[in-house]
Formats: sequence, C-alpha cells, structure tokens
Amino acid sequence: MPTVKKTNAVLKTHTLSFILFGIAAAVVVGYALLTNDFSPSSAIPVVMLVLGIGLYFQQRRWRRFLCPTCRQLLTRERAFDGSPLIFQCDRCDTIWDNGFTDSESE
Ligand SMILES: [Zn+2]
Repeated sequence: MPTVKKTNAVLKTHTLSFILFGIAAAVVVGYALLTNDFSPSSAIPVVMLVLGIGLYFQQRRWRRFLCPTCRQLLTRERAFDGSPLIFQCDRCDTIWDNGFTDSESE
C-alpha cells in the first residue's frame, strides 16, 4: 500500500503565480493610467497574452508534479470530476495529496 502524504507544493506555486499575474495586471493598468491610453485595442492583446500564459501554467500544474522526495516528474490526466488532485510516485511508493480537487470550476 502506498503511503498518502499531504503536500502544499501546488498551493505555493498557485499563490506565487497569482501574485505574479496580479503584478502583471497592475503593470497593464498602471501603464494605461500613466500614458492615459485606455483604448481597448492596445490593452486587449496584453491581457489576452497574460491570461493565456496563466491558463497554460495552471493547466500544467494540474497535470505535472515533481515528487518532493525523488524529484521524479509525475503526471496525471485531468478528470474534471471533483476527484482529489493526487500524484502517485511508484519509486517512493507514495501518493502525494495536493489538497486540491480536479473540478472544472477551478
Ligand atoms: Zn518519488
């Protein structure tokens, strides 16, 4: 039987990226305020790019996880069924529970 261990690694990167994208959003708004350029045509590509990158990394985080013990890359398929976000490392015989659930609303 594999050991189930809790990890907050996903929560940490989730929080970090939230802060980084918050800063990116602040830069976009700050630039608009400084240049007094509120025309949507200049902001939309930047906002789309930031959102696209954020979404890409979020999707990646839900499918890839580095085992904290042996640094092996663990992968899983997204289920979108509210199941717990867990990654199993066969090498360490450990199931890593990230404390998130795999739901579409996340
Ligand atoms: Zn491992």
